[in-house]
Amino acid sequence: MRTFETIIIGAGPCGIRTAIILKNAGVDVVIIEGSTPGGKINIAPRVDNYPGYKMISGPDLAVEFFTRLNAASVEMIGDFVTSLTKNDDLFIVQCENNIYAAKTVLIASGTKEKKLALPKEDKFFAHGISYCALCDGHFYKGQDILIIGGGNTALKEAIFMADIARHVYLIHRRNEFRGNRKLVDELLTYPNATILTPYIPIELIGGDKLEAIKIQNVETKEEKVLHVQGAFPLVGQIPNSTFVKIPGVLDEWGTIPVENKTKATKVAGLFAGGDILPRDVRQIYLAEVDGMMAAKAILAYLGKN
Ligand SMILES: Cc1cc2nc3c(=O)[nH]c(=O)nc-3n(C[C@H](O)[C@H](O)[C@H](O)COP(=O)(O)OP(=O)(O)OC[C@H]3O[C@@H](n4cnc5c(N)ncnc54)[C@H](O)[C@@H]3O)c2cc1C
Repeated sequence: MRTFETIIIGAGPCGIRTAIILKNAGVDVVIIEGSTPGGKINIAPRVDNYPGYKMISGPDLAVEFFTRLNAASVEMIGDFVTSLTKNDDLFIVQCENNIYAAKTVLIASGTKEKKLALPKEDKFFAHGISYCALCDGHFYKGQDILIIGGGNTALKEAIFMADIARHVYLIHRRNEFRGNRKLVDELLTYPNATILTPYIPIELIGGDKLEAIKIQNVETKEEKVLHVQGAFPLVGQIPNSTFVKIPGVLDEWGTIPVENKTKATKVAGLFAGGDILPRDVRQIYLAEVDGMMAAKAILAYLGKN
């Protein structure tokens, strides 16, 4: 079994940033990636809030990240982690094709967007459907849009969109919001915002791109059609953490609470960063900052400068 000083699970912005710092500091580090290097940004049509680039497509930025990883001569293993356990002082990382061990592990495996599970949802992705208003909202400047969800993320992104869109509809399947009441009140101060509850989306309408959404009142079954050019399902994220088999690491949502400055979990030698942490806003720069802080703490843990 190959043993490393550090194994990083996930080659997104958090994992890549950490790997480069550790490698440059002389750590025997490997990054294990189960899909496409660069992480979730691969599915972002455009990124134009990342300093250094006026505008860049998500896949192009992912290639840039991967190029930097290669330039730093970081070893990357293409494999999917199925189990992470700890045996005395060593972490055991079981993958689909192989098994590895390490003194320290960084979990940077991110999240998956919860989908609406409606026909045409995938077809309209990037053609009217986006899972990040903060990232893609400006493409819908002056247009009518719909936010779906009742948590803080949905409410905050609806407020953000009310400043740029012509009209913002927000639908939620319950009459009560999971999110903060103050955010609901703030959204209601916008004349161009309408909250509709208890409604669910039942049909995505359009040819090559989204043109309207049929919604249904959960109690009365009454249906109506909202003519919108953009829709943001913000109904939650699914953390990529089912492989974590060490007790006490995950919280009840499957995200990983960490100590703020070091990104250390409750388990000695185990760190986590990026979207897998419990947080409202998930962005590249936050993932990278986590990576830098985790790298510093991993170096200290390994007794290196
Ligand atoms: C549509 C969209 C547009 C976005 N646009 C922007 C934007 O414009 N600006 C911005 O700042 N942010 C944007 N984001 C958010 C940004 O992509 C994330 O915040 C960022 O990628 C998080 O980085 P991460 O390293 O924590 O996780 P991720 O980027 O999610 O990387 C995690 C990696 O871990 C891998 N992985 C997961 N499980 C396993 C496993 N079991 N074994 C091995 N590998 C595994 C995954 O394949 C993935 O490559 C956008 C997100 C979406 C969905």
